[in-house]
Amino acid sequence: MIRHSFVAIALIAVPLAAQEKIDTAAINRIKTEERDRSQVMEISSWLTDVYGARLTGSPSAKAAGDWTVKKLNEWGMANAKLESWGPFGRGWSNDRMVAQVVSPRPFPIIGYAAAWTPGTNGPMKAEVVMMKADSAPDLEKYRGKLRGKIVFTQPPRDSLPPHFAADASRLADTSLSKLADAPFTADAPRGGGPNAGANNPQAARFQAAQVFQRSLASFFVDEGVVAIVTPGRGDDGTVFTGASGSRDPSNPTKVPGLMFSAEHYGRIARLVEKGIPVTVELDVKNTFYDDDPSSFNIVAEIPGTDPKLKDEVVMLGAHFDSWHTGTGATDNAAGSAVMLEALRLIKATGLKPRRTIRIALWTGEEQGLLGSRAYVKEHFGDAQTKQLKQPMHDRFAGYFNVDNGTGAIRGVYLQKNESVAPIFKAWMEAFNDPRMHTLTANNTGGTDHLSFDAVGLPGFQFIQDPVDYGSRTHHSNMDVYERLVPGDMKHNAAVVAAFVYLTANRDQKLPRKALPTVQ
Ligand SMILES: [Zn+2]
Repeated sequence: MIRHSFVAIALIAVPLAAQEKIDTAAINRIKTEERDRSQVMEISSWLTDVYGARLTGSPSAKAAGDWTVKKLNEWGMANAKLESWGPFGRGWSNDRMVAQVVSPRPFPIIGYAAAWTPGTNGPMKAEVVMMKADSAPDLEKYRGKLRGKIVFTQPPRDSLPPHFAADASRLADTSLSKLADAPFTADAPRGGGPNAGANNPQAARFQAAQVFQRSLASFFVDEGVVAIVTPGRGDDGTVFTGASGSRDPSNPTKVPGLMFSAEHYGRIARLVEKGIPVTVELDVKNTFYDDDPSSFNIVAEIPGTDPKLKDEVVMLGAHFDSWHTGTGATDNAAGSAVMLEALRLIKATGLKPRRTIRIALWTGEEQGLLGSRAYVKEHFGDAQTKQLKQPMHDRFAGYFNVDNGTGAIRGVYLQKNESVAPIFKAWMEAFNDPRMHTLTANNTGGTDHLSFDAVGLPGFQFIQDPVDYGSRTHHSNMDVYERLVPGDMKHNAAVVAAFVYLTANRDQKLPRKALPTVQ
């Protein structure tokens, strides 16, 4: 009931909604196609079970890209291709990972290689040493004692309490109302800029820690350590991806880096602390790829049909790359499959978009939105200099992104773009799904719509139910197909298809915020 009164208030506040022309029949065709002939889970299975994980620069990411282009062509999309960007750095894959305690009591270890670190030289056995060093003087205690050893660089995590709260959740009406109440006023300027570190103790500590990490890395090499191990964040067998090695072949990481599950790390560490020697067998094979330092984005189009508007473009996208320990299901096969399915829905229903609709699936997102930034710079404008590329910047109608896991779309982050609110409000009402009724003025960060926002283009990310994204799957070994929720994935594909189609067929492009100024 809270929901109903909330909708009524929002309607009064946004009278323009009534003026938006909406093709409700088109929305219903999209919803029916998705309900009766959905392929979103089958696409997801190919991207995860067959081609996961999709670490940028790995052979499986490339194979997944090639499969996707083939699929887009099968569906009759135009201009489907891999579009190169770079340089990204060297590629990497983990080909073998065996970790097993052999004495005093044998047991297998849940463990993973850290990306862009080297493997062992074949199978080997070594004793574990616990190390506690926070500064350069601490290291002297260990000099000459680490040759041929496996070094545990952190103490065991002492408290892993039971999960009394459920891992997964949906957004409650109270949380959605709070989002809807956020004001459109601009954010307070954030700390930053070139001198931010000078008087900032946190930044100074961070810098000192970085210097120590570099000296630690060369210490391990000089001392002949065979592998360094950290306990993964997470518990109950879940291991989150931690640090990774260097992608620069002229300055490679030289010691194998591993993450063990917190429980197995803890058992070994407690034995060593009791003075009981522990021997671990390792066989880690990693491969670096130096033939091509560039990566790719995947693009394809449904050409527009209105002679006056077909040169304008609406984009939908998601990042395609993932981390390497699971299969990158919720991060972000979910978003990629939803976008591919949305495009398929528009094509399969035979709807005729007035503007051109273009999908783009990015790589290098996990290393800093690299693929989408390169694409925006190449096609629309430079976020640093604010030099715009015309006529394409003018001809851009809008960008929609999904990158918050499998959870159902509940609304849209407006990125402080107030004039778009009545339009999306009207579209949500026409879509008529009780799950989706919230608009928030808020920005959301951390993903590829920011690359568009940075050059003044309207880019949006949807509000999604968290499910178990933050607690269990995001960057973890448990980010696998089983963690996708089919009903949510189908809903999301239909929502995106409707928003993209309505953007393509509006008389005007979506309204924009003022162009950001050069900093
Ligand atoms: Zn991620």
